Amino acid sequence: MAERIEGVEISHPERVIFADTGLTKAGLARYYQSIAEPMLEESANRPLSLLRLPDGMAGERFFQKHPGKGFPKSIRQMQITESDGEDAAYAYVTDAAGLVAAAQMGTVEFHIWPARRDRLERPDRLVLDLDPDEGLGFDAVRSAALSLRDRLLDLGLSPWAMLSGGKGVHLVVTLRRNLGWDDLKHFARDFAALCAQDEPDRYTVELSKASRKGRIFIDWLRNERGSTAIAPFSVRARPGAPVAAPVGWDELAGIDTARAFGIQAAQERGWAGVARKPQSLTRAMFEALEAA
Ligand code: ATP
Ligand code: MN
Ligand code: MN
Repeated sequence: MAERIEGVEISHPERVIFADTGLTKAGLARYYQSIAEPMLEESANRPLSLLRLPDGMAGERFFQKHPGKGFPKSIRQMQITESDGEDAAYAYVTDAAGLVAAAQMGTVEFHIWPARRDRLERPDRLVLDLDPDEGLGFDAVRSAALSLRDRLLDLGLSPWAMLSGGKGVHLVVTLRRNLGWDDLKHFARDFAALCAQDEPDRYTVELSKASRKGRIFIDWLRNERGSTAIAPFSVRARPGAPVAAPVGWDELAGIDTARAFGIQAAQERGWAGVARKPQSLTRAMFEALEAA
C-alpha cells in the first residue's frame, strides 16, 4: 500500500533502506518532512546533487547532478550555465514536499552548492571539510577543527561546525554575498595551504590519499562553482543512518565520533547552539593570508 506524506505518494513505504537500523523508505520520508524547517533554512534554493539508493543500502547508489525525466514538480528545476558554456538543468527545493519527493525517488543524501539560486555567482558559504587519513581517530579531527577555528577567529572570521556523519567535521563560515567564486576559492586554498605550511605533519592540501599519510586533508575544493558539500541534517548513506549534524563549539569538545547523531537526535537538536551570522571576507584578511 502506498502512503501519502506531505502530499507525496510514497511507493514501497515499508521497503527497508537501512537494514541495520530498520529505517524504511516511509521512515526516511517522514524524517525529511519533520526536519524540513531547520534543513531548509540552510538548503532551500540551492542547486542540489542527490545521492540516490532506490533499493536501499544493499543496492546500487548513484549521484545525480541533473534532474531527469520523471522528476516531480515539487523538485524544482533551474538552468545553470556550466564551465563549458552549456546550460544544464539543476534541481533545488523550497519546501518539505520537495525533500519528501526526493526521498520518494530513493534519495538518502542531499548535497548543496555554496550559493543560492537568486545570486549564483555570489557564494555564501566557505566550507573547510576535514578529511582524516584512515586510522586517524576522531580526537585528531576534533582538535584540528578547534585549532582551525582559532586560526579563523584570529583572521576575524567565526565558523560553525558540523559533524559530517562520516569521518570528519566541516567548518563553515556563513558569508555575505559580496565576493565571487575566484575570491572564495583563493581564500579557501590559501588558508588551507597556510595551515599545512605551518603544521606539515598535521595537515595536507593535496587530494591524493598517498599524501595524506597520518594527516588530515583540509578539503578546500568544496568552494568551487559546481562543487557541493553534504547538507546539514542530511542522512548519510552509511551504516547506522547517521546524520550530518551541526554542533556548537562547546559541545564538540565532548563528542567522540562524526556519527554521533541519528535521525531522532537530529530532530531534537535542530540548530541549537550553532550561530550562523553572515560575515565578509575582507581585503585585510586576504592580505593577512598573503603576508603569512
Ligand atoms: P566524510 O566526513 O566521511 O569525509 P563527507 O561528506 O565530507 O564525509 P567527502 O568524501 O569528503 O565526504 O566528500 C566531500 C563532498 O564531495 C561530498 O559531500 C559531495 O558533496 C562531494 N562528492 C563526493 N563524491 C561525489 C560524487 N561522486 N559526485 C558528486 N559529488 C561528490
Ligand atoms: Mn569530508
Ligand atoms: Mn572531502
